Amino acid sequence: MKEKNSVEQLKRELVEEIEHYIKEMRKICPMCRINIPINSLFCPYCGNKL
Ligand SMILES: [Zn+2]
Repeated sequence: MKEKNSVEQLKRELVEEIEHYIKEMRKICPMCRINIPINSLFCPYCGNKL
């Protein structure tokens, strides 16, 4: 079952890669144009709901 293990390892690495990528993603607040994390619900600068 060596192959299955490497597939599991690959999956784990892929998930970590995606989580890192999401963390690095940014968006621009339309109100104050500040750069904020993509998963923010509110702008931390002006409080605008996104
Ligand atoms: Zn803002």
